[in-house]
Amino acid sequence: SFSAEVVPQAPEDPLFGLMAAFRRDEDPKKVDLGIGAYRDDNAKPWVLPVVKKVRANSCRRGELPNSSRWDADSSLQADDIIRNDPNLNHEYLPIAGLADFTSASQKLILGGDSPALKEKRVTSLQTVSGTGAVHLGALFLAKFYKPASKPTAYFSDPTWPNHFQIFSNVGLSHKTYPYFSKETKGLDFDGFYNSIQNADEGSIVVLHACAHNPTGVDLTQDQWKKIAEVIRAKKHFPFFDTAYQGFASGDLARDGWAIRYFVEQGFELCIAQSYAKNFGLYGERAGCFHFVTSPSSDAQSTIGRIASQLAILQRSEISNPPAYGARIASLVLNTPELFAQWEEDLRTMSGRIIEMRKALRSKLEELGTPGTWNHITDQIGMFSFTGLSEQQVMKLREDSHVYMTKNGRISMAGLNTKNIDYFAKAVDKAVR
Ligand code: PLP
Repeated sequence: SFSAEVVPQAPEDPLFGLMAAFRRDEDPKKVDLGIGAYRDDNAKPWVLPVVKKVRANSCRRGELPNSSRWDADSSLQADDIIRNDPNLNHEYLPIAGLADFTSASQKLILGGDSPALKEKRVTSLQTVSGTGAVHLGALFLAKFYKPASKPTAYFSDPTWPNHFQIFSNVGLSHKTYPYFSKETKGLDFDGFYNSIQNADEGSIVVLHACAHNPTGVDLTQDQWKKIAEVIRAKKHFPFFDTAYQGFASGDLARDGWAIRYFVEQGFELCIAQSYAKNFGLYGERAGCFHFVTSPSSDAQSTIGRIASQLAILQRSEISNPPAYGARIASLVLNTPELFAQWEEDLRTMSGRIIEMRKALRSKLEELGTPGTWNHITDQIGMFSFTGLSEQQVMKLREDSHVYMTKNGRISMAGLNTKNIDYFAKAVDKAVR
């Protein structure tokens, strides 16, 4: 029977604990490399210029989302927000979310000319950001995915830690596949491949579409093709998690390549899509879940049935998704001028991160810091797996007020032209 006294204390979320420790530190030189959110060159949160533009304009027009009436000559200040718009109502969205948003999200991730879209074998629901999309997908699979033996979900080692919690919360068991090579600080391709080959037929394989979190190590297109082959041979189910499209390379199509390739190959798969990072809409919780069925004569009726079940799951969990972030993203995705500006904003973010990678590597090499540092520029996206040991990480925190996760992961966005020298010297000191 239940009694409150038997509820054990759960451990603190390591990332949020790190943030609290950073906030408590009063040293003016402190550096936050823990948080997975973009920061500008002044270490400040960055509202994308395109998002500011939408907010200002929509306040005046009160017409979100309505791409055709976009007026580029808004005279309002950027920080007048939609919430202050006297004409905007706060009605519920449909269970599956804002239709303009989910259809634009399909095109964004699958490509406008995707065979799956032409053949109407995709169903999509707006979710509580990427986390909600991963959860909805896991919940759906737990309920309806029944290969010969009870399926196990495979995650990369390491992965975004929330994968473990989300999948076990819905009752799916999980294992990991090798991914990161400590020797090369790059991909352990053979380990990855062999593990997928040896997994029970029909396993769920969770794949990071680009900008792998936490390692920053991605597959080449050839490597993706080989992984696709073994997934097909073993009848596994691919589950793509895409939280960084456009944020990795600055090119949306390039960052979506792996997913588009799998879809072209006719895989049945699902996709958890987040707009937290690439729109800077972290707290607004804008995301999307997509299920794509294989081409077949009854694909459309299959997708209809899947959509009906997903709607019931969504209804029982959140009823309907939050509107604000999806309205902003929808207007941008559906308006060519705004879309072009968004692509520019993506290049600003990815470009600054790539610059910081180059600068960090060259500073460490100039200092002659023991070890090799090419992996800093070989890796891509928000994070870098530095190879620093837990002991070195703690030394950096104690001696230099630099905060990063114990596994040596740094958020590249926490570096800027003002703190990068300080950070490189601190690493040099900790490594020697
Ligand atoms: N998946 C991965 C790999 C991530 O790194 C993240 C965020 O850090 C997410 C999903 C989901 O993030 P959110 O729920 O904020 O969209």
